[in-house]
Amino acid sequence: MGLRIYNSLTNQIDEFIPIEDGKVSMYNCGPTVYDYFHIGNARTFLVADIIRRYLEYKGYQVKFVQNFTDIDDKIINRANEEGVSASQLSSRYIEAYFEDSEKLGIRPADVHPKATDHIPEIIQLIERMVDKGIAYEVDGDIYYRIHKFLDYGKLSNRKPEDLLSGARVGIDKRKENPRDFDLWKNVKPNEPSWSCPWGCGRPGWHIECSAMAIKHLGESIDIHAGGQDLQFPHHENEIAQSEVLTGKTFARYWVHTAFLRIGGNRMGKSEQNFIFVRDALKDHSAEAIRHFLVSAHYRSPLDYNATSLSDSDSAIRRLNNCLERIGPYSELADSEVSTSDSEITRAAAEMLTNFELAMDEDFNTALAMGEIYKLVGHVNRFLTQEKLIQVDRVALGIAYQSLIKVCMVLGIYSELESIPNGNTQLVDQLMELVIDIRNDSRLRKDWVMADKVRDRLHEVGIELRDTPSGTNWEWRGD
Ligand SMILES: [Zn+2]
Repeated sequence: MGLRIYNSLTNQIDEFIPIEDGKVSMYNCGPTVYDYFHIGNARTFLVADIIRRYLEYKGYQVKFVQNFTDIDDKIINRANEEGVSASQLSSRYIEAYFEDSEKLGIRPADVHPKATDHIPEIIQLIERMVDKGIAYEVDGDIYYRIHKFLDYGKLSNRKPEDLLSGARVGIDKRKENPRDFDLWKNVKPNEPSWSCPWGCGRPGWHIECSAMAIKHLGESIDIHAGGQDLQFPHHENEIAQSEVLTGKTFARYWVHTAFLRIGGNRMGKSEQNFIFVRDALKDHSAEAIRHFLVSAHYRSPLDYNATSLSDSDSAIRRLNNCLERIGPYSELADSEVSTSDSEITRAAAEMLTNFELAMDEDFNTALAMGEIYKLVGHVNRFLTQEKLIQVDRVALGIAYQSLIKVCMVLGIYSELESIPNGNTQLVDQLMELVIDIRNDSRLRKDWVMADKVRDRLHEVGIELRDTPSGTNWEWRGD
C-alpha cells in the first residue's frame, strides 16, 4: 500500500501521488527570526523533518525548502528596542536556529531562503498582480483585491469576511474592501525598506512565502507544511496570490501540525508559557525531546507537562540499552545462516511492516513508535530467556539493523549519543572524579591502578591527555 496523507485542502486522507514520479517538492513555513525557537515551534519543524525522512526512506528524491521570515513587525520592534538593525537581529536568530535545530537532530533543508534575499522576486509578483488588476496601490501600500479570487477560503473553509478578525489585519478605511490584505507596506520611520516601483517599502508576510516557494520549487508543489495556526489567513493568502497568477494548483497536499499545549493552552510566545529548545536541551537529550514530540500523531494536540520529557528520557534509555546489547551482533545480520524459523526475525519483519503501515497512513508516528517498543520488549524478553545459539545471534543482528533503520526516520537514535547530550554536566563531574582517583594513584606510585583507569576509559571511547597544567579528557566518539 502506498502513502496516504491527510490533506487540509480536501479535508480527507488522500493517496499521495507526486507531480513527478519518484520526486517530491516540499515547502515548510519557517521561523520568524526575532527570538530563539521553543519546543512548540520545534514540533512543526520536526514534523516536516520526519515527513522528509520518511519520504526518503520510501525512495523519493525530496527537495525540501524552509524559509526564514527575516523582515516583520516583531523583528523591527525588537531590533529598535535593542538598538540594532533588523538584519543584525535576524542574523543572530538565524544562526541560533541552525545551532538549536542541529542539536535537535533536525536536518537542514536543501534551501533556507530568506525573505530579504527575494525582494526582486516579491516585487515582480506584486507588479504582475497590479498589472492584472488583482492588486492596487494606496499611498505606497499595495493591497490584494480579495474578491478577484473566487476560490478564496478553499483551504480553511473560511470566508473572506473572517479576515476582519484576523490578528494581523486591522480595518483600514483607505482599502476598497476591508478584507483586502497587504502585499507591500509603504516605508515608515525606523523601518528597513527597499525601493520599488511605488516608492519605498517592505513586503507583507504572505507574499514572501509565495515568492520563495515559486522560485525554489516551481509554480506547483507537492507538499506545503506548516503549523495549524498558519492555515488561515497565511496559507489561504499564499494560495490566493499564487494561483491567481499561475492558474495552477499552488500546493497539492497541505499538512498542518497541531499545537503543543501546556496547562491546556497552546505553547506560544504571546502566551508567555514556552520553553526554549536550548533550555530543554540542558536537561534532556535531543533524542528524548524528539521522542516526546513524535509520541503523538502530528494532527493531535500534544500536552507538555513536568513528567512528559522525563518519561521520554526513560523510554530512550530503554531503547538504547536494548540497542547496546544487540549491537555487537549487527555484523552477523548479512551472514548466510537462515533465520527464517527465528521468532526474533519474524518479530523484526513484523515491526518493519507495521512501522511502514503506520507511517503510510498519514505519518502516524505514535503507532510507528509503538511498533518499535514492541520489538524492544520482545528482544529484551528473548535475551533473558534464551541461551543464544548462532541463529539467535544472527536474528538479533537483523533486529538491530531493522531498529536502527526506523529509529533514523524518527530521529530517536544517533550514533554519537553514547554520551547523552543532556547529561554533559553529570559526565563532566564523573570524569573529574575519575581523573582525581587516577592522580591519587599516581601520587602513591600505584601505576597499575593509574594505567587501569586510563585503559578502561580508552575502552569506552574516552582518551586522557596529561599536560603540564593537568589531565584533560576527550570523547573519541566511536
Ligand atoms: Zn509561509
